Amino acid sequence: MHILVIGCTHAGTNAVQEILQSHPDTDVTVVERHDDVSFLSSGIPLYLEGTVKRLEDMFYSSPSELRRLGATVLTRHEVEHVDVQAHTAHIIDLDGNEEADIVYDKLIVATGSTIKRPVLPGANNAKVKLCKSFVHAQRLAQSIQDKHIHEVAVIGGGYVGTELAESLTRTGHHVTLLESNPQILQNYLDVANANQAATILRANNVDVCLNEAVTGFADGADDKLAVATIARTLNVDLAVLALGFTPAATLLAGQVETDSHDAIVVNDYQQSSHPDVYAAGDCAVTRYNPTGKTAYIPLASSAVRQGRLAGINVFGNTVRSLGTQATSAMNLFGTCFATTGLTLQNAFHQGLMDCHSTTWRGTWRPAYMPS
Ligand SMILES: Cc1cc2nc3c(=O)[nH]c(=O)nc-3n(C[C@H](O)[C@H](O)[C@H](O)COP(=O)(O)OP(=O)(O)OC[C@H]3O[C@@H](n4cnc5c(N)ncnc54)[C@H](O)[C@@H]3O)c2cc1C
Repeated sequence: MHILVIGCTHAGTNAVQEILQSHPDTDVTVVERHDDVSFLSSGIPLYLEGTVKRLEDMFYSSPSELRRLGATVLTRHEVEHVDVQAHTAHIIDLDGNEEADIVYDKLIVATGSTIKRPVLPGANNAKVKLCKSFVHAQRLAQSIQDKHIHEVAVIGGGYVGTELAESLTRTGHHVTLLESNPQILQNYLDVANANQAATILRANNVDVCLNEAVTGFADGADDKLAVATIARTLNVDLAVLALGFTPAATLLAGQVETDSHDAIVVNDYQQSSHPDVYAAGDCAVTRYNPTGKTAYIPLASSAVRQGRLAGINVFGNTVRSLGTQATSAMNLFGTCFATTGLTLQNAFHQGLMDCHSTTWRGTWRPAYMPS
């Protein structure tokens, strides 16, 4: 059987490892646009602040490891088009510009997500940075090392924006965190805890600005970037976009079922509406246990599990997904916020009216963790 895996970060890497560890004789081709695999985006804030010293340490696999397992790994190649009925994928070599069609028996789509770029004037300005891939992290690190870069605007107060605000403050930058909602971390924390997180950020010199939507970007005076909001214009040296993720599923658009976010709809076996196409990670939906429905929850922890499941079930649907509670945690200037399931506001929003929330505050640590 020939299995084609498109995209090779968490979902793709784990799918390939699972397939070749359990079925070493399988013919597996991996197509990945970047020249690396398995990059840990979640470590970027730790790298920017200097806790992780080398960006190269944020990989847990490599093209050569996957080749040793038996895969044909085509890095710096991109899948341009898939025909799920014909079982073919059209690929291009990003360096040589050569093109080819690959015929597969089963397809695992692990194309992940892209960072949302707002449709706003000036959003493509060179001083407006993204932060997801290895190359983004390299560029951002280079920019903030420039001694002329002091004022930074982080756009979006979700978990990525909040973590970046802390990291950039730790590197001596003055950060303005712009959030259009009345609270930060809206999908993770109820208002009281989100307010506490904002208080901690402010106490550490982050300018947290709520209810302040950005309306555009432009070149400002003195080589600054002018960030326009509904309230004012801020002059900064750099802005970083952290507005959430969009599923990268256009390859299958119109060929398999997708949800309102354009994420690929999969069943409990990671199988799409086409029986020979599996999808895993940020490009697909996941079953959200608190509601019992599918939802779009882009997390590395889910991508790893879904990749493993796709690698198992592509040989026949045997292992069901356990779904997710979207448990996550972050450490903000020494205070850890951990959360699981729906916030109370989000539960009400979903029509679940008989709900309560509870918050535990303390200093307990399990014995195996150093204090
Ligand atoms: C700053 C930051 C912090 C984060 N922190 C956390 C955290 O603490 N915890 C957590 O769980 N998650 C975190 N995340 C989210 C996490 O990084 C993503 O959920 C995870 O990367 C998803 O993995 P994936 O394999 O599904 O997709 P992706 O990481 O998006 O990878 C998809 C891959 O597919 C390739 N690809 C796409 N299209 C094609 C094509 N047509 N042809 C060839 N290749 C293609 C891409 O090049 C890419 O390498 C964080 C993200 C960021 C940016």
